[in-house]
Amino acid sequence: MNEMESVESKKVLRVGIYERLSDEDKDKVNKEDDSESIKNQRHLLMAEINKREEFVLVDEYCDEDLSGAGTYRPEFERLIRDCENGKIDVVLCKSQSRFSRDMEIIEKYLHNKFIEWGVRFISLADNADTANKGNKKSRQINGLVNEWYLEDVSNNIRSAFNAKMKQGEFISPFASFGYEVSKEDNNKLIVDPVAAEIVKDIFDLYLTGLGFTGIAKYLNGKNIPCPSLYKYQKGIKLNVISNRPREKIKWSTNAIKTILTNELYLGHLIQGKRTTVSYKNHKIKQKDKKEWIKIENTHEAIIDEETFNKVQVAMKERTKPVKATGVVHLFSGKVFCLECKHYMRKKNSSRHEYLVCSGNRDGYDDCINKSAIRYDALENVVLDAINKKIKKYYDQNELNNLDSKKKSNRFTDKIKSLEKQKENAEKEISKTRNYLKSLYEDKVNGIITVEQFKDLITDYNKNEDIYSNQIKSINNEIAYYKVKEETSKNNDKIFSKYQNLNELNKLIVDEFIDKIYIGKLNEETNTRDIQIKWNFE
Ligand SMILES: [Zn+2]
Repeated sequence: MNEMESVESKKVLRVGIYERLSDEDKDKVNKEDDSESIKNQRHLLMAEINKREEFVLVDEYCDEDLSGAGTYRPEFERLIRDCENGKIDVVLCKSQSRFSRDMEIIEKYLHNKFIEWGVRFISLADNADTANKGNKKSRQINGLVNEWYLEDVSNNIRSAFNAKMKQGEFISPFASFGYEVSKEDNNKLIVDPVAAEIVKDIFDLYLTGLGFTGIAKYLNGKNIPCPSLYKYQKGIKLNVISNRPREKIKWSTNAIKTILTNELYLGHLIQGKRTTVSYKNHKIKQKDKKEWIKIENTHEAIIDEETFNKVQVAMKERTKPVKATGVVHLFSGKVFCLECKHYMRKKNSSRHEYLVCSGNRDGYDDCINKSAIRYDALENVVLDAINKKIKKYYDQNELNNLDSKKKSNRFTDKIKSLEKQKENAEKEISKTRNYLKSLYEDKVNGIITVEQFKDLITDYNKNEDIYSNQIKSINNEIAYYKVKEETSKNNDKIFSKYQNLNELNKLIVDEFIDKIYIGKLNEETNTRDIQIKWNFE
């Protein structure tokens, strides 16, 4: 009987102790000592329980999350659940910041939910106790200071990442398809030779006329693994976890487009495209393009600049691919009406394909170019024209007795002679400067008078101006001939690929032709004017 009475009067308080690792611990100790920090917290809290007779340990909750921002704290969640379910009367911590550094969480639990559930919060190091009403202000101040600390840490991490990105260091743990993170330096990308070949194929396929869908179909048809399946097969950790069986993941139109537009393949690193909303809200937010951090030539390129640019231009030019096959038509984006300059729309009948002026739609038919042109007829005309162009090129070269090497050497020689001239001008300038120096010494030594010195200096300054102007104009000339040299080399490259063509493909059309203009049909002669604007003369 006596015993019963004493239990009732001494009311037992069921205590849950909460421990959490903190990044402050990291500064002080080694990684292996993490457990030490938890142990210390536990000692402190258990000593308090032993000191207070009414306290009884119910459970221990221990999280290893370092941030304290409440991102992932399973034990914290369990503690809260147990509080709500009435299993706990007192939550005991080393400090309020171990419980949370987030002001909102402090407010939500310490000053709201815990009161509602009849739970008391005690933290030892900062003397917080929700049973003590006068204590509230200091708990709120603690909370604020803790939150500032968290914000500082978050900003520091952000600026450390930004600095790394600005130095061209790769900061993501996941490399894009075609690359892998170097094992020696995890801020560097190296080429994954197998995936790189697939990337190259994708660029080539696009230039031969296949669209995004067409390429995806082609790769899937050949059972070539898509990026996530490939990574999975190689045992690389994935950043997105999908529920679908891996084997079922296929190339998508989007994956192809992403690859074809990614400047990473040029050897440039573009980072900082996304950010989190804040240190508390971990939602991902897209950043404005001008805020992206782009550093050029940070790693080996997989695609050369010429190919990449061709693809970007083609992407802008191409109209929608034919849906069923995913193939873009041969002259897509290139054919226009000579009369009204509208583009020529593709039209299919049961037997043939046609192109017709788009200025002739229902409702507005002000173009005189009424009759359609058959697609295969245009194909023949263009094939002929290209073959003529090729023949002319070879004939001309024979006529001038210039092989392609000699022709481009013309500009190369010109550039060499200009560089020689520039060198001479530079020599003159340095001579002048040396002379000036000796004049100055003469003046100092009293060999010439100040007046003589001034006169001579004016002369030599004039001289230097003349030479530096000369250098400027030579530089301009060199730049001009370099462009010429490059264009001529390029044309040679195009021509050397083709002799006499039997068939057209999108790659050839794109290489030779800028635009095609179709004139109206002359009904008497049954002919029409077709003008081709070439990419080069
Ligand atoms: Zn027209």
